[in-house]
Formats: sequence, C-alpha cells, structure tokens
Amino acid sequence: MHEMGIAIEIYRTCRDTVAEHGGGRLRQVRIAVGELAAVEPDLLVFGWEAVVADTPDQGAALTVDFCRADQRCPACNQAKDRSEGSWLRICPDCGTPLEVRGGDELDVIEVSFETDEEGCP
Ligand SMILES: [Zn+2]
Repeated sequence: MHEMGIAIEIYRTCRDTVAEHGGGRLRQVRIAVGELAAVEPDLLVFGWEAVVADTPDQGAALTVDFCRADQRCPACNQAKDRSEGSWLRICPDCGTPLEVRGGDELDVIEVSFETDEEGCP
C-alpha cells in the first residue's frame, strides 16, 4: 500500500506549512487527488489517520477532492462524457484518439491549523 508513503509526504508538507506560520496543531487538510494519480482515496485517508495517530495532530481530518480526468476529442473539439470508472481510447463519435487533460493531481490545497498561543514567550 503505497498510500502510506504518500500520507507521510503530505503530513511532512503540512508540518512545514504550519512551521512557516509560527507552529500549531493541524485541524484539517484538503488535498486534490486525480483519478490517474494511482491513489486510492480511502486508503490514503486510512494511511493519514495512522500517520497522525500518536502525534500532537491526532484527529486532524484529511479531506480528499477526487478529480476526474477530462477526455477531449481534438477533432470534435469537445470533452467526451463517460461513465465513472470507464475509460475511452477513441472518440465514440468520430474515432479520433482522445487527449487527456488533468486527472493526475496530487496536491495539498488547504491546511487549517490552530496556533499554539501558550508556546509564545
Ligand atoms: Zn470526435
């Protein structure tokens, strides 16, 4: 399950962000995961919970925005609909190979945290 390694990476990114803003405790983290990123959102949340357990950030929530890839036909010049989980190789209308846009996202979008007021001298 490589989601565990990704969860650790995300956690490091979040901790860096919090540190840059004077420190504190993570409350909520929002990430974007594309359908082509080869990441299972459920497993990623599971991994995240394991990563933050036994840290001061225990209980911080990870929210995953799942981003679908856009399949466009360069000949029809429009995006082609498909049902969830299915994948088109050629345009169903004209047979031209489709171009793919997006869907490979794996980004931290938002980091919410509480500042640690007592920690200030
Ligand atoms: Zn077409």
